[in-house]
Amino acid sequence: MGLDLRERAADSGWPGARVAESDDQRHDAAELEAGYTRTHRRYELGSIAATTAACTWLVTRIAASAPVSGWWMPLAALVGLLLADFMSGFVHWAFDTWGDIDTPVFGRLAIRTFRHHHVDKTAITRHDFVETNGHNFGLGFPFMIGTSLYLRPESATLFDVFVAESLLMMVVFSAVTSQIHKWAHTAEPPRFVKLLQRARLVLSPEHHELHHGAPYNRNYCITVGWLNGPLRTVRFFETLEWIISAVTGAVPREDDLGKDTAIEVARETAAEPEPEPDPARD
Ligand SMILES: [Zn+2]
Ligand SMILES: [Zn+2]
Repeated sequence: MGLDLRERAADSGWPGARVAESDDQRHDAAELEAGYTRTHRRYELGSIAATTAACTWLVTRIAASAPVSGWWMPLAALVGLLLADFMSGFVHWAFDTWGDIDTPVFGRLAIRTFRHHHVDKTAITRHDFVETNGHNFGLGFPFMIGTSLYLRPESATLFDVFVAESLLMMVVFSAVTSQIHKWAHTAEPPRFVKLLQRARLVLSPEHHELHHGAPYNRNYCITVGWLNGPLRTVRFFETLEWIISAVTGAVPREDDLGKDTAIEVARETAAEPEPEPDPARD
């Protein structure tokens, strides 16, 4: 099934889909896997503990605020889910597209895992809870500290509380995004997860599989994937890549695909004004 979807991606006319077919195993999976150090593990454990504590602090501040109302929670959850989906796409795009494992700070902390996932997409299914989710917990920490400091229970307005609830839900959904991504690659996920995938309330395997067709430049959002269509329609990431390349001269996906292929993909992307509709969304 994966191969079939990959062929469908290659036949879809998506920019660069054919160009990179033969050149998508540039990195050695075992070497990248070996980059998972004890220091990284400690960072993940610390991230889970710190962000859980920061979320708890924010919950106590929301609960102590006078205008708190349960009626706004479903809307805040929806806003948080959309923000998390956007964040998942933005972070995924950034680490897939720029830098390499020698990039200061982010290279070994994050980019390594994104390169690894493209050369061995099922490795994530063998990762435990900490390795799967630790990094995403860490991304939420500054948001939770910032929001807790912003929300003053004694003078908070309903708008303040709504913003705090939305950001809390964004961090909660972001924290479980890698778990959702892992389930999209798991052959037999739990039954309730399959139901959520079928209802498209979490990322579905069919929708995500299209990202894994070289040159890996579509469907970056991996929480629910709802924003992949709209972002593609407005050429959000393509425009960002064009601006960054024009300003810095950097070639998008150079480390992931190799320079020659990456340049060809960038050329095809620039020459393709209207990408085809997603064949997995029928
Ligand atoms: Zn990717
Ligand atoms: Zn994946």
